Amino acid sequence: MWNNIIGQDAAIDKLRSMFKSNKLSHAYIFYGNTGVGKDAAAIELAKLVNCLNPVNGDEPCDKCENCKKISQFKSEYFHFVCALPAGRSDQSDNDTVENLSSSDFDLYLEQIEMKALDPYYHLNLPAANNIRINSIRDIISKIYLSTSRNYKKVFIISEAEKMKQEAANALLKILEEPPKNSLLILTTSKINSLPPTVVGRCQSIHFLPLNKNDIINKINDDCAKDRTNVPDAPKKEIELAARLSGGSYTRTVEFLNMGIKEIREQAISFLISTLRNDFTELVSIIRSITGKNNKDKTKYFLFFLNAWFDDIIKVKYINDADKIANIDLHERLVKFDKNYSSSDIYNIILSLEEAEKLIGQNVQLQLILVNLSFKLKNYLH
Ligand SMILES: [Zn+2]
Repeated sequence: MWNNIIGQDAAIDKLRSMFKSNKLSHAYIFYGNTGVGKDAAAIELAKLVNCLNPVNGDEPCDKCENCKKISQFKSEYFHFVCALPAGRSDQSDNDTVENLSSSDFDLYLEQIEMKALDPYYHLNLPAANNIRINSIRDIISKIYLSTSRNYKKVFIISEAEKMKQEAANALLKILEEPPKNSLLILTTSKINSLPPTVVGRCQSIHFLPLNKNDIINKINDDCAKDRTNVPDAPKKEIELAARLSGGSYTRTVEFLNMGIKEIREQAISFLISTLRNDFTELVSIIRSITGKNNKDKTKYFLFFLNAWFDDIIKVKYINDADKIANIDLHERLVKFDKNYSSSDIYNIILSLEEAEKLIGQNVQLQLILVNLSFKLKNYLH
């Protein structure tokens, strides 16, 4: 049912009306911030095109065999493609799900199961940086097989920006000759990182950041249903997480799971220790954040630093409390802005972006944060 999706009325209305008037394209790109429901909507569309008994002619019923099997990621008409860790073989040519080491394979299955339970879940496969060329070859081997006219084979390529050039080239071949009875849906939060040739051959649909209250309602719903990955957090904490999430449901849940207040406090302490040259404290914070190569936590830590300086800009130039994410820390923001009024915020934000990029390039996490601290020290005055 479309009401499995939070908000996104404009995108859903478009898809419904294209389906109803039989004008669905053979390939889509759903783009927008992370955690706003792109994969979730792609899964609903996969159900709709194969639903045996669509409600009002444009809504998956959630009851028929096809809807159920696709929801469980167990349908032969539905394939979910994502980035994978390198396989056992040294030859990258052999990287497919079957070639994963047994521990990676178990983790993959567990993560896919989480995704089937909650389409908003963000897969967590360490070292899965690329969508492998063989994953695209897998699509090619399946998509051209003939199928009963009544069904559509749907392939979702999640986080499609993780395709390298050769994978993108292989995909282009499919997009140039799209087989009948197939539907490709690429989802991405970085549409500018996709080759223009791929973007040009797909119909793009924008997914907007979610409304804060919609996120809160969904979290309360999920808690009531006892969803395992949604923690039972105090109301104020949920509100704070939703406000800081930038309109992302997935991020809100991850904030709650990792203890939003603690990690935010660590981000602020990181700034204070940097300014005071308190190296002992700095190292202790960095160790606690990076843990055993904890990329996710490090990314969120950077996210909070970013949100802090974003708020500083708002305190400085826009006098609208509603726009400030850390509104509960308003006084501290004002004080910080006063004490460091001539800081080079532009370069601070650039340094934070650069640090985030380095995480993706597998640079040692502690090193990234130590370097960041040195840079911030130069820009804060
Ligand atoms: Zn159905």
